[in-house]
Amino acid sequence: MKLTEIKQILSARNLQLSKSLGQNFLHDQNQLRRIAEAAELTAGDKILEIGPGLGPLTEYIAPRAAETLAIEKDGRLVEFLREKFANTPGLQLLHADALDYVKDHRQWSDWKMVSNLPYSVASPILVELAQALSPPQRIVATLQLEVAERVHAPAAAEHYGLLSLLIQLRYETRGIFKIPSTCFFPEPDVDSACITLARRTEPLLSPDLQRVFTRLVKCAFSQRRKMMLKLLKQNWPLDRLTAAFEQLGLSHQIRAERVSLEQFVQLVRLLSTIEAGTGD
Ligand code: SAM
Repeated sequence: MKLTEIKQILSARNLQLSKSLGQNFLHDQNQLRRIAEAAELTAGDKILEIGPGLGPLTEYIAPRAAETLAIEKDGRLVEFLREKFANTPGLQLLHADALDYVKDHRQWSDWKMVSNLPYSVASPILVELAQALSPPQRIVATLQLEVAERVHAPAAAEHYGLLSLLIQLRYETRGIFKIPSTCFFPEPDVDSACITLARRTEPLLSPDLQRVFTRLVKCAFSQRRKMMLKLLKQNWPLDRLTAAFEQLGLSHQIRAERVSLEQFVQLVRLLSTIEAGTGD
C-alpha cells in the first residue's frame, strides 16, 4: 500500500486519524517486506496482528499464513478492512481492544505475533503476551525506538529495567532495525524500530516461580536509586535475602539496574529453595 493510496482512502472515506490510537500508517514497501521476512512465515503459520490499520502489513502476512487474526480497535478501519480483505481466506478481522483481548486469551503457543503496534499500549501488550500461559513462539513488533531498546537492554545498560526483565525471561532478541519516521503517514514524533523476539526453548522458571520473579523484579525496580536489598526486605525476610545474596556474590549495596536476568532468576530459585527448606 503506497502513500498515495493511503491518502486516497482517507480522503474518500473522510477519515480523520486519531493520535491517541497511534494511527501512523507504514507505507514503505521495503520496511513492510523486512518486517514480514523477520517473521519467517511458513504456510502453516497462525499470525496475530494487532492494529492492522488500513492493512499494509496484513497484505504481506495473510496470503503467506494459514490463519491470521487481526484485531483493530477503530470500527471505521474494521469496516474498510472487511471490504478490502473480503476474499482473503484464513483472515479473521476482530473489532476489539487488543490489550483486553490478550488479557483474556492466554494460549498462543503455536502463534506468531507480527504487528506495527499502537505505541501507547505496546509495552503492556508485550508484557501480557510474555506472561501468557503459552506465549507466542515469535514476536515481530514495530515499536517506539526507546521501547525496543528497553526490551532488548542487558543489565547496567541505559535502558535496562523492568520491561527488559519481564520480556527477556521468556524471549531472546533475534534482531532490531530502525525504521525512519518518513516511512509512516503521518510521520510520528518519535523514532521507531522493529524488534524480533524468539521464545526461549525452555522457560527459565516454572509458572509458579515466574510469578515470584514478576513480584520480585517489580519490587526491586520500584525505586530505581534505592539499594535492592532494602526494597526486597519489605516483602521477603532479611535473613533469607542475605543468605541468597551471599550465595550469589551480590553486594548488599547493589541496585536492581546492576543485577542481570540470570542473577534475578537465581535469586528467585534460591529464595524458593530456602522457603521450601525451612518448611514455610
Ligand atoms: N498496521 C498498520 C500499519 O502498519 O500501517 C497500522 C499501525 S498503527 C501504528 C496502530 C493501529 O492500531 C491503528 O490502526 C490503531 O487504530 C490501532 N489500535 C490502537 N489501539 C488499539 C488497541 N488497543 N487494540 C487494537 N488496535 C488498536
